[in-house]
Amino acid sequence: MPELPEVEVTRQSFAARIEGAVVQDAWFGKPLRWPLGCDPVELTGQSVLQVRRRGKYLLLDLSQGLLLVHLGMSGSLVFAKDLPPCGPHDHFELATSRGRLRLHDPRRFGAVVFAQSENAPIARKLLGRLGMEPLSEQFDVAAFARGLKLRRSAIKQVLLAGDLVVGVGNIYACEALFMAGIRPTVRASRIGRVRALRLHHAIRSVLERAVQRGGSTLRDFSSASGDAGHFQLEAAVYGRAGQPCRTCATPISLLRQGQRSTYFCHTCQRN
Ligand SMILES: [Zn+2]
Repeated sequence: MPELPEVEVTRQSFAARIEGAVVQDAWFGKPLRWPLGCDPVELTGQSVLQVRRRGKYLLLDLSQGLLLVHLGMSGSLVFAKDLPPCGPHDHFELATSRGRLRLHDPRRFGAVVFAQSENAPIARKLLGRLGMEPLSEQFDVAAFARGLKLRRSAIKQVLLAGDLVVGVGNIYACEALFMAGIRPTVRASRIGRVRALRLHHAIRSVLERAVQRGGSTLRDFSSASGDAGHFQLEAAVYGRAGQPCRTCATPISLLRQGQRSTYFCHTCQRN
């Protein structure tokens, strides 16, 4: 599943090139997770002003309104001047004066949704409950520490929930908790200021490194220019059950938390 770093890598791969492009045509294939919410003809003639990201949504600001693009479970975007004809798993294409932006999404959990503004009901519904943006100034240490104090679930569950800080998926939650030396099962409310500071730093650093490396190496993911990511190759704990911890050589443990696999080191990560 594309996580925040993959979405950011995708954004960076075409944002500068599509800026200023004029939409010539919008084409839709099979239904995606949510309907577009307007007549595709209304997109024609609009300019793409910029491409932002909020959580795992890409926001294409148009001269009037914006498009919210989500990659779902298996979506990927490609932006190029020339593309072969759409295949059976291509379900959206925006033809512009600068090239074609195409969504390839075999499982169709992705979406392209039009909103008049970020205050429109549909935009508020999709974006309104997202937590702090971990790679922005908005990710404040004090607010993060206070948020942890208010939550009684296991810290890993709190990270995955996304209402405190957004976009920390399973791989990144495991890696950040390892880097911060915190056991994934610890109640969030038990994490004090010093450990909250370490975790804040770890989340940022793990996500930034993943963006720099082009996202994780996930089967379905490739950025809009077609490069596969590399992050998973250097994971400290994720996917390494039974293998020696890179810090202390203790075999990495595996447990299930809310249907998801949690990897951690018994020795390096404390309760
Ligand atoms: Zn260890």
